[in-house]
Amino acid sequence: MSHSLTTMSYIIAAILFILSLSGLSNQETSRRGNYYGMAGMAIAIIATALSGTVTAYAILIIAVLIGGSIGAMLASKVAMTQMPELVAIMHSLVGMAAVLVGFANFMDSSSGLAGAEKTIHEIEIYIGILIGAITFSGSVIAFCKLSEKISGKPLLLPARHWFNLLLLVAVFVLGAQFLQQTEGGGGNLPMLFLDHSGALPLLIMTVIGLTFGVHMVMAIGGADMPVVVSMLNSYSGWAAAATGFMLSNDLLIVTGALVGSSGAILSYIMCRAMNRNFISVIAGGFGTASGGAAAVIEGEVQPIDADETAQLLLAAKNIMIIPGYGMAVAQAQHTVYEITKFLREKGKKVRFGIHPVAGRMPGHMNVLLAEAKVPYDIVFEMEEINEDFANVDVSIVIGANDIVNPSALDDPNSPIAGMPVLECWHGKTTIVLKRSMASGYAGVGNPLFVLENTRMLFGDANATMQAVLKALKG
Ligand code: NDP
Repeated sequence: MSHSLTTMSYIIAAILFILSLSGLSNQETSRRGNYYGMAGMAIAIIATALSGTVTAYAILIIAVLIGGSIGAMLASKVAMTQMPELVAIMHSLVGMAAVLVGFANFMDSSSGLAGAEKTIHEIEIYIGILIGAITFSGSVIAFCKLSEKISGKPLLLPARHWFNLLLLVAVFVLGAQFLQQTEGGGGNLPMLFLDHSGALPLLIMTVIGLTFGVHMVMAIGGADMPVVVSMLNSYSGWAAAATGFMLSNDLLIVTGALVGSSGAILSYIMCRAMNRNFISVIAGGFGTASGGAAAVIEGEVQPIDADETAQLLLAAKNIMIIPGYGMAVAQAQHTVYEITKFLREKGKKVRFGIHPVAGRMPGHMNVLLAEAKVPYDIVFEMEEINEDFANVDVSIVIGANDIVNPSALDDPNSPIAGMPVLECWHGKTTIVLKRSMASGYAGVGNPLFVLENTRMLFGDANATMQAVLKALKG
């Protein structure tokens, strides 16, 4: 393929990626956004494979077949509840790729660069490996936290901020050494990796990058995890862009920058949604380091059954449904929509209130509701409906906990203090569907469950919703 044809294909792919991102920002256009992304990626892969940079087609085909089948197998097997951890582990692969490409570039003495160009290339390698290593280890820890393989509790080392600062200084010092040593080296092709000039500072920096990634994510408390997920998404973009610089691939630079900046914007949006300071979240543990202990929840819960729930719903005019992580676990979205349709046919106003960090990944609830074909015009963001609860007769909280916790607003010692929540308790009655009195992801008790106007409908959300549907129809 000629150079200009490759460039043109790259431009088309980049435009498709931009269209994809803008499509994904809205539920109604998100399907189209996905198609644009797939088309862009297909063009990008084909154009790169035919651009003349690839010579070993057999290896490429084998790698694509192995990688493609692992991806297809994982994607077909993964449950909706495992999506967040799948996304986290995917980010780790981008990080690992950046590290491997960095080392391959470092060991490749055939580039023939000299002077300023050589220095710039070495800086690219150094930064690429650094970002890649942080993304890799940070994403692996995020994967373990999201899949509950390790505790979501923050690991708060004493003097952790000094430790981070020390790592940062070491990265700069090693960077200077790396550049100095590579300056003097070169020429013949050494057999052993460590014989390369600059290999030692590069290796030590990689270990530091890995350590920093682990420490950064370990120090983040459960409730701040959404920001970490979007931040690692952003890092994976920058890691890809760094790989693009190392491989002199313009499309990879553009695509990486798109992912990096959109991830950064998403992190900012998540921080605002949680009323958190971005720097505090990445420095780790600030949100959790409050003075006293969080208040203990005392009081009697008032259980309710499916028939009584149906009676309350039939008597109500204005109903709000608040889905959370438990709806994803129970896969209750289809039954919830059946109930919604039934109630709407009876002339009731039914709306969905979505908290920005509900579930375990950005947009989690929107994806589930779209899957169940809930119309978009009855799905509202938190800030659109939070003032409205005084007019709501019945709120049904389906497997949500942290996002409806009043202590976020009135207990300054709570780990989620300051996070805006859906204030359903201002409505007439709240019905909470969950299996037990267990806490949510942030691990804090919820005083909503013992309020006078709250009723608890215990059980798996899908089973209880089905019982309610039966009672409504009966
Ligand atoms: P929570 O984790 O606070 O609560 C979920 C509740 O669902 C649990 O209390 C659980 O109670 C209940 N549940 C679980 N399975 C079922 C089931 N089968 N049937 C009925 N109920 C069930 O979820 P929220 O959505 O309220 O809040 C999200 C939390 O996750 C926040 O703390 C957020 O910071 C965090 N987070 C969000 C991310 C994001 O990007 N959105 C990423 C990472 C973390 P029980 O066991 O008693 O049934």
